[in-house]
Amino acid sequence: MKFAFDIDETITEAPEEFAAIINALMDAGHEVHIITFRTELHKEQTEKELRDYGILKYTQLHITGDKDKICMEHDIDMAIDDDCLYHYPNFWGFNLEFALPKRKK
Ligand SMILES: [Mg+2]
Repeated sequence: MKFAFDIDETITEAPEEFAAIINALMDAGHEVHIITFRTELHKEQTEKELRDYGILKYTQLHITGDKDKICMEHDIDMAIDDDCLYHYPNFWGFNLEFALPKRKK
């Protein structure tokens, strides 16, 4: 299957957990697209940030102002984003929240 993950307010909220999920998906042969609303100016910084999180492999990093279009082009099955209703008007979406143990940031 093909998955898309947002970075800001998504991966950044639980980087260790998302790294485990993304690495497991990649190891299982799925596609993982990282899709961010950041600008191309931040591409290298974004790639470093993902490495620092332990996200060492993914299918493609997309830096875009149109996440919905990228998902349509790549035939994404599921996108995980903190704001699906705004970014994915052509997809059915619901708000998802995660419960994490309290810990120091
Ligand atoms: Mg976000």
